Amino acid sequence: MNEYGLRSSDLFRTCFRKSPDTVLFAPGRVNLIGEHIDYNGGRVMPCSLSLGTYAAAARRNDGVIRLVSVDMGGAVVETTSEELASLPCVPLSFARFGWAEYPLGVAAKLIENGFYVGGFDMAVCGSLPRGSGLSSSASLEVLTCAVLKELFFIRLTGEQAALISLAAERDCAGVNCGIMDQFICAKGRKDHAVLLDTHTLSNEYLPFDLKDSQLLIMNTKKPRRLAGSKYNERRAECEEALRLIVASGMDRKHLCELTHEEFASVEALLPETLRRRARHAVTENERTLNAAEALKTGDIVTLGKLMNASHDSLKNDYEVTGRELDSIVYAARDQEGVLGARMTGAGFGGCAIAIVEKDAAESVKAGVTERYKAQTGLNCEIYIAETGEAPFGKG
Ligand code: ADP
Ligand code: MG
Repeated sequence: MNEYGLRSSDLFRTCFRKSPDTVLFAPGRVNLIGEHIDYNGGRVMPCSLSLGTYAAAARRNDGVIRLVSVDMGGAVVETTSEELASLPCVPLSFARFGWAEYPLGVAAKLIENGFYVGGFDMAVCGSLPRGSGLSSSASLEVLTCAVLKELFFIRLTGEQAALISLAAERDCAGVNCGIMDQFICAKGRKDHAVLLDTHTLSNEYLPFDLKDSQLLIMNTKKPRRLAGSKYNERRAECEEALRLIVASGMDRKHLCELTHEEFASVEALLPETLRRRARHAVTENERTLNAAEALKTGDIVTLGKLMNASHDSLKNDYEVTGRELDSIVYAARDQEGVLGARMTGAGFGGCAIAIVEKDAAESVKAGVTERYKAQTGLNCEIYIAETGEAPFGKG
C-alpha cells in the first residue's frame, strides 16, 4: 500500500479506535480527447490514473455512518443509514454534509435502488489535486461504491457503479455532468485508455502506448470558478442547437449523431453562436474516432495533431478555455519535443495535457513552468501521468 493508503488507515485508527476491514483505491482520470461531448452522446477517450482516492473502511451493525477525510481537516461527518433512506436525493438535503455529500449521495442512491447499505465507518485520503479537472469527485464516488460493495456483499457491476455514482453527483451534489468520469474511474485499466460511446456505453479498451513519448499533466492552479455556470450554459446551447436541427426535419437524439456532411447541410439554420457550439460537438466526435485509430496504429504524431485541433476548437468554437489554459497549452506547443497539447476536463482552469518525447520531458517542464509564470504570475504543477487500475476494471 502506498503513502496515501497508509494515511487513510492511520486516520481510521485514530478516529474510530479500531482497525479497518478493508482499504480500497479508485483512480482519478484524464480525458485524452473528446471534450464536452459526453453530454452530447459523443465518443470520449479517457484513461484512469495512478493518482486517486483511498479509503479505509469497516462495517458497523448499528446503522451509524461516520466519514472523515485527511484532506478536509479531519472532522467526522455522522449520519445513519435510516436517515439516508428517508432523505430525498436533492442537493438541498445533502449540502449540509459538505464534502461527504459525494459518498453519502452514493450510499443514498444504492439504497434508493434497492441495495442494502447499513452502518459503516470510512476514512478517506486522496492523492489527486481536488477541483482541478482530474475528477476527484468521481474517484470518491466510485470508491464509495467499491467499499459498500465489499462491506455489504452488494452484487454491483462496474457499469452499475458508474451509473449510481453519476446519479449521486447529479441529484445529491447538483452537478449536471455526463457519464465519462464515473465510467472511467470505475472501469479503467492500467496501461489502457477507453474509447467510450457515451450514448450507448459501448466501449473498447485501447493499449495506451505512446512509444517514445509520455503524457504530461499540466495543472494551471487556476480555480475553475466559471466552470459550473458556463458548463450549464453550454449544455443548454447544445440542447437548443439540437432542437433547431430536429425542428428542421433531421431526427437525431444527440448532436454527435450528426456526420460532418449532415451538419454542413443544416448549419446555416443555426444562429452564429449555436452553430459554433454544435460544430465543436460534431468535429470533436470525429477527432476522437480518428485519435483512437491513431493510438491503435501507434501514430503518435497524428494523435498529437488531433489534440491540438481539439484545443483550438474548445477555444474558438466552444469558448471554454480561458487565459490560463491557453497560455499553458501554447507554452507547451512551443517547446521542442512536444507532439500536441490541449486542455482537459470542463475548462476555465484546471488541467491541460501534452504528449512529449521522453527525452524532452524535463526541458519541457522547465520551459512551460517559466513561460506560464511570466505570462500569468501563477506557479503551475506538472506531473508525468501514469495510468492506474480502477476497482471495477476487470469485470
Ligand atoms: P474534480 O472532480 O475536478 O476534482 P469537483 O469540484 O468536481 O472537482 O470535486 C471536488 C470535490 O470532491 C471536493 O471539493 C470535495 O468535496 C470532494 N472530494 C474529492 N476528493 C476528496 C477527498 N480526498 N476528501 C474529501 N473530499 C473530496
Ligand atoms: Mg468532479
